[in-house]
Amino acid sequence: MSHFQENFVAQSAAVRVRFGAGVRHSIADEVRALGCSRALILSTPQQADTAREFADLCGPLAVGIYTDATMHTPVAISDHAAAYAVELVADCVVAVGGGSTTGLGKAIAYRTDLPQIVIPTTYAGSEATPILGQTENGRKTTLTSPKVQPEVILYDAELVRTLPVGMTVTSALNAMAHAAEGLYAQNRSPMSTLMAVEGLQAFKDALPKVIANPDDLTARGETLYGAWLCGTVLGQVGMALHHKLCHTLGGSFDLPHAETHAIILAHAMAYNAVAVPELLEPVSRIFGGPSAGLAIYNFAAAMKAPLALRDLGLKETDLDRAADLATQNPYWNPRPIERPALRQLLQAAWAGDAPAA
Ligand code: NAD
Repeated sequence: MSHFQENFVAQSAAVRVRFGAGVRHSIADEVRALGCSRALILSTPQQADTAREFADLCGPLAVGIYTDATMHTPVAISDHAAAYAVELVADCVVAVGGGSTTGLGKAIAYRTDLPQIVIPTTYAGSEATPILGQTENGRKTTLTSPKVQPEVILYDAELVRTLPVGMTVTSALNAMAHAAEGLYAQNRSPMSTLMAVEGLQAFKDALPKVIANPDDLTARGETLYGAWLCGTVLGQVGMALHHKLCHTLGGSFDLPHAETHAIILAHAMAYNAVAVPELLEPVSRIFGGPSAGLAIYNFAAAMKAPLALRDLGLKETDLDRAADLATQNPYWNPRPIERPALRQLLQAAWAGDAPAA
């Protein structure tokens, strides 16, 4: 069955994407192709060695390294890094890492308009979106701007090989969530649906192979392919219950990003499948299950993903406040957000129970 819709708007960003194990060795060519010659390399402290490798690969085209990228993109670090870029007279940023490093590159681009080359080492998908999440004084806010959209993405399977198996699984489920919610987005198009279905299929096929052999570069490449597709869906269409709930849990209870996504996805699917079973049919078909929620839950369990919010440190006594916070600011969702049903969802996700349907 085709994904034809009678009416739609589809908008894609102008992004250059290069794929291939070892493609990072072309970084100097990519800097030059942007018309740049003064790159600032970014990473987290944990990936400083990778940042140094990139500085070596860039040679005289690298003017500095900044290795303080931090989860949730704190504004103080972004201001500091942007000032450093100006001081160095950098003319582009090269962000090597997961969503945290990509976030820092975007935050610098937002402040300075510098072009970005992103080399993702997780499946978070931020590199494919014009979205920037930032935190200040304990509050996370999100903005969307074309300034923030990276110009070039290099997907190198050799760099994702070092991602530990546990993080590989949670990061994959994080990516899959973008595609799964994209299937019922109000502003979806046949193109975003095609990408969502293909992205989910790529993870279904490749993730078990990566877990069996984390050095399987073909399977690692296929998971990066899935991450690109799922991230592109996130960049093109609106998200709903799943992403809003994860945002609340991450922002207000300091729960880790990818793990929270990994746990909530099955429950968000089950909640929304009641309203739009036909739109979530690809999820149950690809992952094999009687419903989208159970298909994802069983896949996550088979991949040994975390299943319970209580294992992330959330207390049962926090659930009422989480339900209050998650129903405070209304947003569009295919099924109305009803507090009792949401409280039930949170209880099941907290305990690690399978969703009811
Ligand atoms: P992360 O970038 O924080 O990485 C987690 C840790 O893993 C870091 O210490 C990092 O250095 C390390 N790491 C990353 N890749 C590795 C590898 N290949 N080998 C070994 N270690 C590696 O985690 P993440 O889940 O990629 O990103 C989460 C952040 O991204 C959150 O702040 C989230 O809000 C943001 N995000 C933003 C968007 C967007 O569109 N704006 C989309 C998705 C995620």
